[in-house]
Amino acid sequence: MERNIEKCPKCENYTEGKPVYSQTRQMTRAAVKKGSSQLIGAGIGFFVGIFFGFVGCVPGAIVGYVIGLLVSSSSTVNDVTDSVDQQLYSSTLFRFDCPRCGHTWQKTYQNGADTVPDAVLEKQKSDLVQRLRGDASACITGAVVFGLTTAASAYYCLSHESSSTYTKNVWLIGDTEVTDYNWMWWFLCLVAVVCFFAAFSFVSSVVSKKADAKAIEQMSTDEYRHSAYRR
Ligand SMILES: [Zn+2]
Repeated sequence: MERNIEKCPKCENYTEGKPVYSQTRQMTRAAVKKGSSQLIGAGIGFFVGIFFGFVGCVPGAIVGYVIGLLVSSSSTVNDVTDSVDQQLYSSTLFRFDCPRCGHTWQKTYQNGADTVPDAVLEKQKSDLVQRLRGDASACITGAVVFGLTTAASAYYCLSHESSSTYTKNVWLIGDTEVTDYNWMWWFLCLVAVVCFFAAFSFVSSVVSKKADAKAIEQMSTDEYRHSAYRR
């Protein structure tokens, strides 16, 4: 559902409208919501069931039912509900209650119309750029931490042996070759591999977040209005 924000005619405060649904429409929405959450739940239950074979169908269905109840308030279900709702109804009545002065007004919007004022979009745009920049610097810290861990573990593995073999004289059997494994080496080898991939993924998200921030910053308000970054 689009957010509808209007300037209060009395005090000019930006106010977000709340959709007002008729009783029939409320019932339709509730039915769609229930149907889509059960469908999602059943889908998940089906895949869970596959892992347990034929017997898994029963616990799968139960798990699916429970998950269906849990996801009923999720954004996916709400999105499905809104999109079905918008196909059935061409317009929605919105009610605005100004939180500053208490003035109340109503307006009917055609579904799909974008009425967010430029000033609100500009604020959202700069907030998003700031958030992306913050995320990027957090990712730099992650990349450095995992990079150093990779380097330290790799250094240990390169400067130590993974195992050592020596000859030992065993009573009645004679000389036998014994191999001692250096478990620390194997552990740090694993740490090095895992941390390498973690560092790599942090570096790539730094690059993509910085690129996104730059692209959004250079957009005009109107370009931002129609961009995919908005959601
Ligand atoms: Zn007001």
